[in-house]
Amino acid sequence: MKLFQSLPLLFIAYLFCSCGNTDKTGAQDIKFDGEVVDFELADDLYKFHDQIKNKTIVNRRFKHKDVVAAIQDLDPSIFEVRTAGQSIEGRDIFLIKIGQGAKKVLLWSQMHGDEPTATMAILDIFNFFQQKNQFQELKAALLNELSIYFIPMLNPDGAERFQRRNALGVDLNRDALRLQSPEAQLLKKIRDSLDADWGFNLHDQNRYYAAGHNPHTASISFLAPAYNFEKEVNQERGEAMQIIIAMNGVLQEYIPNMVGRYSDAFEPRAFGDNIQKWGTRTILIESGSIKDDREKQRLRQLNFTILLTSFNEIAKGAYQKLPLGLYDEIPFNNSDAFQDLIIRKANVKINDQDYKIDLAFRHGEIDNEENTDYHFRSFISDLGDLSTQHGYIELDAESLTLVPGKVYSSKVRSLKRLIKIEPLDLLKAGYTNLFMKDPPEADQIDQLPLRISSNETPDIEIAVGKNPSMLLQQSDGTFKYAIVNGFVWDLDDEESIRRAWGNLE
Ligand SMILES: [Zn+2]
Repeated sequence: MKLFQSLPLLFIAYLFCSCGNTDKTGAQDIKFDGEVVDFELADDLYKFHDQIKNKTIVNRRFKHKDVVAAIQDLDPSIFEVRTAGQSIEGRDIFLIKIGQGAKKVLLWSQMHGDEPTATMAILDIFNFFQQKNQFQELKAALLNELSIYFIPMLNPDGAERFQRRNALGVDLNRDALRLQSPEAQLLKKIRDSLDADWGFNLHDQNRYYAAGHNPHTASISFLAPAYNFEKEVNQERGEAMQIIIAMNGVLQEYIPNMVGRYSDAFEPRAFGDNIQKWGTRTILIESGSIKDDREKQRLRQLNFTILLTSFNEIAKGAYQKLPLGLYDEIPFNNSDAFQDLIIRKANVKINDQDYKIDLAFRHGEIDNEENTDYHFRSFISDLGDLSTQHGYIELDAESLTLVPGKVYSSKVRSLKRLIKIEPLDLLKAGYTNLFMKDPPEADQIDQLPLRISSNETPDIEIAVGKNPSMLLQQSDGTFKYAIVNGFVWDLDDEESIRRAWGNLE
């Protein structure tokens, strides 16, 4: 293992930054000297994103045809576009190059079909380079120093179905050695033929990670993957860590304490680990979740910002001044620490016994047939003492009692009649379910204050995996909240309930 930087230089870099301050929750607040990380540039890029982004793509379930359309628009005097190969089902996989510099950077996105955030950011980066804007000077400098190669959407068949695996059902990220999938063979071939200096392995992670033991989501997580079981740090892996330190610094400006780091346990079958082993400085970026950003458009903007920041860092080499120790200060990704809803300390009667429990729901996404849209089907994801977990929404139910909602067996046969129902009256009378022989489509009724179903005996059981509709009752016997399909309705908020019901029209 080579020594990374001379000690005096490290020391100077430390003096220049107010790094690694930790607050009471152990969260970090990292800032560097502007010469090492150009925060002003990052902020200009962040603000510019909305103007430059690909406006035809607005949610996560876009398809291969959308990527093809964006690529067809690229100016051949700037972009070299090559069809590098095909997926199992014959969809083209592209390799797009910009720049003539000596440092080779390779990025691949959506190796997992349902992890599209970075693909959106890459298409935005294409627009950024294609269109004349106030960043001409920066772009010229980047293209002079770097040759940047993009493989957007490595797994188009998976994207078509919005699923992780390819059409064979193989996880491409466990196929780096056996190379049975054409998509994996392609990535290996491109990596080897370029012998890239830098590799960006771009993924999404689920929305339930926390950044360490903080009440913050891991909105973006990083890893400089290990290349052996001993987790050694050589020159290349160290440099990958330094770029991560720079990106983390930028992200702290926008999503403070919401950045995590993956464990670097070596996975012998994964691409990131192997590409690091093959000598490419490899960086894993996992886009997680930000509250109220279900379609990840803010995460797309942040990906755009940190990827361009990284290109600038690599081009200038300034990152080499960043002390490696800062990498270890990024808190570990803490899996299953978040829930979509947590009801705290509710009183529940089971078999005539009283219990106090925390109850968590997750809002599962059920895709439509074309995998272009989804509706929510929620389920109880955990119960018991959930004091170590955090909720996107939290409800204090210490003084409330959880009771199952009743089924209202209406003679409602049409949407027209359904719209006329007064949901609040039913909720106040203890009904949370409405029986209807022929209910509207699931996506129309998944976020209503009453659960409409053709099932006359819906779930009432409070158990993991079930989706009971319930009411939270006050000591005077009146109901304060309804929990329907994992969403909370405040019965004092008449306006919200009426508005939601109005969406049926
Ligand atoms: Zn992934």
